[in-house]
Amino acid sequence: MLKIEEHKEPQHNLPCENFINPKRLYLPLSQHTGKPSLVCIKPQDIVEQGQVIATEDGYISSRLHSPKKAKIIGIDDWYHPVLKRAKCIIAEPIEEEERKFTPKSKIDNLDKETLLKIIKDSGIVGMGGAAFPSHVKLNPPKKIETLIVNGCECEPYLASDYRLMVENFDAIFRGIEIVCKIIEPKNVVFSVEENKQEAIKKLHLAVSLKKYNLPNLSLAILKTAYPQGGEKQLIYSLLKREVPSGRLPLDVGCLVHNVGTFFAIYEAVYLDKPLIERVVTFAGDALVSPKNIRLKIGTILRELFDKKILEFKTAPLKIICGGPMMGIALDSLDYPILKGTGGFLFLSKDVLLGTERPCIRCGACVRECPVSLMPTLIDLTSRRELWKESALYGATDCIECGVCNYVCPTNRMLLQSIKRAKLEIPR
Ligand code: SF4
Ligand code: SF4
Repeated sequence: MLKIEEHKEPQHNLPCENFINPKRLYLPLSQHTGKPSLVCIKPQDIVEQGQVIATEDGYISSRLHSPKKAKIIGIDDWYHPVLKRAKCIIAEPIEEEERKFTPKSKIDNLDKETLLKIIKDSGIVGMGGAAFPSHVKLNPPKKIETLIVNGCECEPYLASDYRLMVENFDAIFRGIEIVCKIIEPKNVVFSVEENKQEAIKKLHLAVSLKKYNLPNLSLAILKTAYPQGGEKQLIYSLLKREVPSGRLPLDVGCLVHNVGTFFAIYEAVYLDKPLIERVVTFAGDALVSPKNIRLKIGTILRELFDKKILEFKTAPLKIICGGPMMGIALDSLDYPILKGTGGFLFLSKDVLLGTERPCIRCGACVRECPVSLMPTLIDLTSRRELWKESALYGATDCIECGVCNYVCPTNRMLLQSIKRAKLEIPR
């Protein structure tokens, strides 16, 4: 793993602001791993805040809820950070006031099946980026021995998980209790990197209170390294267990969930609040000041600049959805915040890549790949469209961490080339 520049300040120390009244919402039907949601409203409908507007399509899918009381304007193609354009429900909020989500004091009467149903019905997906439907992940075919709470947030610049841990640690622990009731692990390991000092203090406090009903809870403070937050890397760092190629964490008795997912599960179960908002970090040297903002899913970047919630100091040369290592370059401010979006960067220079030159066979990408691939060879086969050979070199095991791009002295666009191979390899 690599020690890379963190760029976490001042974001780590900026309390979350709120932006809850966008004038338009753009809600793609594909915000999760699996089949897109199925629209269950029509243009001109008036929908309540939290009302289902698209249902899941099959088991590996998720539903969508209206983030505000709103009028449905249309269902049309719109900007999507991953798919570039995708079908989207467009809605115009008609009421600024928020619905009251009243907390339940007790949830002891809710059994495992009921809890799973609430999580599914609330549209909860992994908040760390992959957006895998949580009700599927929480219903594994094998016994889970260790539940790992992922508070590592190892991507440079991003601080949304950190702020959640500092500001909402009790809710996160309540979410962990719910998950423990569902999967009944033997141990819980809360992992966080050592650069998250304020959060670590809060977590020590939470553990010392002994008020949470969690089996063998331990706190693991890890050295800051990239890509420590990747599931397989985290399992190895904590337990020295290797997840074999093509297998899942559950094959080594583990389940990893991001802290944001536990928070969303808490809100779904205790408040009856579906997943309609999230915390997002906005950072980069092209901004007057970075911010952490809790906002409605479906809010577009442009609105934050129009309303002067964010301001440019200088025109950005690069806009990135996510962090600089795994993020996706955007060509417009019209992209919406999705369920799995942890941050956006606005950079005055291209920190991702310089001019690409031929490979000099230095071997750096091979040495540093955290899953022991040969990125240079996958790149070569991908550029020649030799998909069978890309598969033989293990392209599908790539975790898309971007380390190979980062270390390459000739700026080879290895990750982009490997991603293409992953898409093209016949399944
Ligand atoms: S090949 Fe994939 S896993 Fe390996 S360094 Fe590159 S992006 Fe990361
Ligand atoms: S790091 Fe870049 S130059 Fe070095 S072997 Fe890999 S692709 Fe070639």
